[in-house]
Amino acid sequence: MSIPADVTSADIVLRAQSVRKRFGRGDTAVTALDDISVNFEAGRFSAIMGPSGSGKSTFIDVLAGLERVDSGTITLGGQDITGLDDKELTQMRRDRVGFIFQAFNLVPTLSAEQNIELPVSLARKRINPEWKAEVIERLELGDRLKHRPHELSGGQQQRVAVARALLTRPDVIFADEPTGNLDSQSGGEVLALLHGATSGYGQALWLGTHDPVAASHADRVVLLKDGRAAGEVQQPTRESVVSALGELSDL
Ligand code: ADP
Ligand code: MG
Repeated sequence: MSIPADVTSADIVLRAQSVRKRFGRGDTAVTALDDISVNFEAGRFSAIMGPSGSGKSTFIDVLAGLERVDSGTITLGGQDITGLDDKELTQMRRDRVGFIFQAFNLVPTLSAEQNIELPVSLARKRINPEWKAEVIERLELGDRLKHRPHELSGGQQQRVAVARALLTRPDVIFADEPTGNLDSQSGGEVLALLHGATSGYGQALWLGTHDPVAASHADRVVLLKDGRAAGEVQQPTRESVVSALGELSDL
């Protein structure tokens, strides 16, 4: 896939090169990723779209070091992660990767503030108070910190999950259908805050979604089909995404 002229290789925080991944053997084998290469630059917001079964979830799993590739390389922050053992992969994820899920995945017995701090506490790292204050302000959570998740709206809960992902200052944030459980207004707010936070802090953001409106918040949309990169839409709008998905199904 071509790199825009103004992007230097130093800006690339995550790179997949010729990645292949098969599940199963013999007659029942499925090729989930078929020679896919994509770059993710610092501060860039990429949405990944494609039909069900096109490899979106497998791609996130190999990029985040949750699944191993059969061949090809994945470079995160200058380090080839395909050769790491399980312990090193866990450490790498803790230091470099943030996750945001459709189901929020907050701990119900902890306050919003305790949830935000949890990954940093689990890693036995010190919380930087200035950074924490900035993240909370960005996500507009200042007056919700003592609340438990069930006392928050869906949009507020997802903003807590975003703050939790940002607090560790990861190189890359993976968000898989983060607005799938939200109404369109709060989903739009979460995506706008996520976009502002990541681009402002130089983090790469990866958004997996079915929703052309959600994808239109991204800087580009990467299209997947049958485990292959099947094109990109730059500066997407809802209309350009719908049209690109239509062309994809005609291929
Ligand atoms: P998407 O997220 O785009 O719907 P997936 O990455 O989940 O696609 O799946 C890509 C292909 O790989 C599908 O054909 C799926 O059935 C297959 N697949 C994914 N995970 C496994 C697995 N653990 N075992 C066997 N096949 C799998
Ligand atoms: Mg999936």
